[in-house]
Amino acid sequence: DMIVRNADLALYAAKDGGRGRHHFYSNDLLSAAEERSKLEEDLRDAVAHGGFELYYQPVVNAQDETIAGFEALLRWNHPQRGWMSPAKFIPIAEDIGLINAIGEWAIRTACDNMARWPENIRCAVNVSPLQFANPQLPAIVTNAIAHARIDPARLELEITESVFLSDDEGTDAMFASLKRVGVRLALDDFGTGYSSLGYLKKAPFDKIKIDQSFVRGATEPGSRNGALITSITSLAKSLGMDTTAEGVETMDELELVHNLGCSHVQGYIYSKPLPGDEVFDQLSNGLQL
Ligand code: C2E
Ligand code: CA
Ligand code: CA
Ligand code: CA
Repeated sequence: DMIVRNADLALYAAKDGGRGRHHFYSNDLLSAAEERSKLEEDLRDAVAHGGFELYYQPVVNAQDETIAGFEALLRWNHPQRGWMSPAKFIPIAEDIGLINAIGEWAIRTACDNMARWPENIRCAVNVSPLQFANPQLPAIVTNAIAHARIDPARLELEITESVFLSDDEGTDAMFASLKRVGVRLALDDFGTGYSSLGYLKKAPFDKIKIDQSFVRGATEPGSRNGALITSITSLAKSLGMDTTAEGVETMDELELVHNLGCSHVQGYIYSKPLPGDEVFDQLSNGLQL
């Protein structure tokens, strides 16, 4: 973002021979900084007064197409801008120290919601690397599970590879604590980062989530994605882990990931993320999505 801005400014500077450069530069920075600090203020407000909602996207068993569970996805209805993507506001929440509060709310809300669902239905919650580095996380999870009176094995925490970039001992200890609590652990966005087989060896994951960038284009002739998905699923199977193919949108993609051995499927082909009440209604009516 900054690189694009600076290139734009260089263009301005060239056009007016550099005379107006300082003027443009400071204006541009000011408005970006102002926009950012307004967003920060609004985020603090949302944390204090409850401006978030969880949506739930079904995770479907590839074999029989029954619902195995849901992934909880955070939504923020911004007072002026409307629905804002978590991809935009979560990094800001991480920067200004709000992610632990938001993440705790998400874990509690997902557990309370799950208590209204049939007992065989799981829920996955995304956990930021900063939450994973918080020694309070196992206690937060334990309390949420106790409050909702649910089986801990119904809660799955989704973690990205970036947790391995920091403190080795702290990371190992956190994995061990969470396993003692009894929750399931999923490795999210597999294949997008510094995917290392070492992580799979040392961390007790129950599931690998294959990023949608592998699924997208896998149906194109000559694509290597299919071969990669096959390798990941057979590796996972031999380690006793499930695999979810993420972002499946078309029948061709569904057929492919099914044939390549993914145990679970998630994506618009089945359903977009839905508000909690809608999920509850559908589950209590025994309807398929
Ligand atoms: P993610 O964990 O990889 O979640 C999957 C994203 O893919 C979601 O975007 C989901 O709506 C979207 N998606 C699902 N199926 C399809 C499909 O078939 N096609 C396409 N194109 N997209 C699909 P969303 O909800 O915008 O979330 C974006 C990211 O924000 C998530 O990526 C996750 O990294 C983060 N996030 C969301 N909720 C939370 C949360 O409660 N805590 C934390 N720390 N991060 C969260
Ligand atoms: Ca996820
Ligand atoms: Ca993902
Ligand atoms: Ca992601």
